[in-house]
Amino acid sequence: MGQKYVDCRELSGDIHCKTTLVANTNDELMEVVIKHAINVHGLANTTDFRKQVSAHVREGNPPI
Ligand SMILES: [Zn+2]
Repeated sequence: MGQKYVDCRELSGDIHCKTTLVANTNDELMEVVIKHAINVHGLANTTDFRKQVSAHVREGNPPI
């Protein structure tokens, strides 16, 4: 309950990535999303990217 998550496919536009990143707070989520984006997708940690992440944060339980 009260979880926040980002569906990486929506965020990165990479249809092959089936990762859903989950955390308890926005700050935690931002960190795991950025780590994932840099390591897996080679994206950069920019202000624009952070804004994009914020726009894709959803609350509740991620769909399985
Ligand atoms: Zn991904």
